[in-house]
Amino acid sequence: MNLVFLGAPGTGKGTQAVRLAKEYNSKHISTGDLLRAEMDKGSELGLRVKDIMARGSLVSDDIINTVIENGLEAGTSYILDGYPRTIAQAEFLDNFFGKMGEKLSFVINFILSEEEIIKRLTGRRKCRKCGKDYNLYFNPSSKGDDCEACGSVLYQRPDDKKEVIINRLKVYNEQTKPLLDYYTKKNILKNIEARRPIDQIFKDLCKVIQD
Ligand code: AMP
Repeated sequence: MNLVFLGAPGTGKGTQAVRLAKEYNSKHISTGDLLRAEMDKGSELGLRVKDIMARGSLVSDDIINTVIENGLEAGTSYILDGYPRTIAQAEFLDNFFGKMGEKLSFVINFILSEEEIIKRLTGRRKCRKCGKDYNLYFNPSSKGDDCEACGSVLYQRPDDKKEVIINRLKVYNEQTKPLLDYYTKKNILKNIEARRPIDQIFKDLCKVIQD
């Protein structure tokens, strides 16, 4: 089973992808996480994408398709989170899965208002050391600016600043939203209302898969 998690930034795709991957023994691939890991390593790819990501724009289809091409193998079940984000990427993925003898089972579209997205993203914090996620509004650390789990300092992603979020939403509306139509035509799009407790959303996702 191969799934794509679609939706604007901040709709909770990553949180659900991690959980679902555990439940169904799938591999969670977040292209954003892969690119951030390259930046942390200081690799050539990381340096190439750093400014683009900081602005909230998309890295080129060629670069991201190569990342996917190198990261996916036949016979594994994937949850793709944050990929594809353009029609060209979606076409590449169809082609690539076809060559591997795989196919895309479903595309889950996470729906949330822009107002809620902005609140969630501006409040998002992460521990530098252990990676634990927090949110100032919904899930604050009991240790303030420090991580409850390991005591290290929490940080805000540079692209979670308000002005960058506005650009990320614009980019989503212009370049990623057309994928809704693309996958509706293929009859594999499932909508999920994302303004609900994490457990409820997870239950719905499991139901979609079991059905
Ligand atoms: P994310 O963590 O999914 O919000 O991604 C963070 C940033 O990584 C995005 O704003 C883009 O700059 C870049 N990125 C991640 N996935 C893609 C993709 N599929 N296509 C182009 N850029 C991407």
